[in-house]
Amino acid sequence: MSAHLIDGKTIAAQLRAEVAARVARLAFRPGLAVVLVGEDPASAIYVRSKNRAAEAAGLATETVRLPSSTSEAELLSLIARLNADNAVDGILVQLPLPPHISAGAVIETVDPAKDVDGFHPVNVGRLANGLPTLAPCTPLGVMRLLAASAITVAGARALVLGRSAIVGRPMAALLLAANATVTVAHSRTRGLAEECRRAEILVAAVGRPEMVRGDWIGPDATVIDVGVNRMPDGSLRGDVAFDEAARVAGAITPVPGGVGPMTIACLLDNTVTAAERRRSFVSGSR
Ligand code: NDP
Repeated sequence: MSAHLIDGKTIAAQLRAEVAARVARLAFRPGLAVVLVGEDPASAIYVRSKNRAAEAAGLATETVRLPSSTSEAELLSLIARLNADNAVDGILVQLPLPPHISAGAVIETVDPAKDVDGFHPVNVGRLANGLPTLAPCTPLGVMRLLAASAITVAGARALVLGRSAIVGRPMAALLLAANATVTVAHSRTRGLAEECRRAEILVAAVGRPEMVRGDWIGPDATVIDVGVNRMPDGSLRGDVAFDEAARVAGAITPVPGGVGPMTIACLLDNTVTAAERRRSFVSGSR
């Protein structure tokens, strides 16, 4: 392996420590409310890790667990209650939701000022227009990995593989806001390998294990692997064939231990940012 390994665990730990230091400087404890509907085991694990990390950073957390039989109207009225609660600065509704509840309706009911997932159309629109906003945590985490690794984004040719609302699209918007020249590729893209090879920064978010091969990577490119694919033996693989890619790339993230830890750290960061903005607090360092 010749590529520099971008260590998401260490960079996320630094970010969590910075968030804890910001919280310690505040005259109040920012509050994060996490809503979990149903019994999906993976969602329950995510919620537990988010709570643990939030508490370790000094945030006040409230977790609301609801049965999968909860109606959309009941969930919307809970969100209205959290919107009105001044102690709550951030609201996160864990996805996926049971099929009888419209995720779109839920996302649009969260107060955009408390939308720490960055999914509300107001925040999506602000991001698209290059305005200050709460950006989705995973792509925000990628930007922080790039910054912490001193990768120059301005002027770079960046390719985002995947165009989901959660990762690909906001990733492209953030890279564009940072002055990269951005291409978004997806399942209908022709000549995908060639498109990837031209990229100086390649962000893979497709959900297909090891789809991006070593010969898709340009020499010295920075490769960010967002993919998390659970293999039949229980192990996790990224969207990039790591060993092959690491021989060609200049820098690369591992899976696990790359983008994953950044997502939760950025959730904490977004919660404190939302708290500072909502309560009109201007921190000395930001
Ligand atoms: P989605 O399934 O919502 O989107 C996948 C995207 O990849 C789509 O835009 C799709 O194109 C594109 N795609 C699928 N197959 C191909 C193909 N063969 N060639 C080219 N493009 C293709 O996934 P997400 O964006 O939600 O997640 C992507 C990955 O990131 C997953 O592995 C997920 O687990 C992981 N993830 C990791 C997070 C973390 O914290 N580390 C957080 C969120 C996600 P089209 O639009 O044309 O269908």
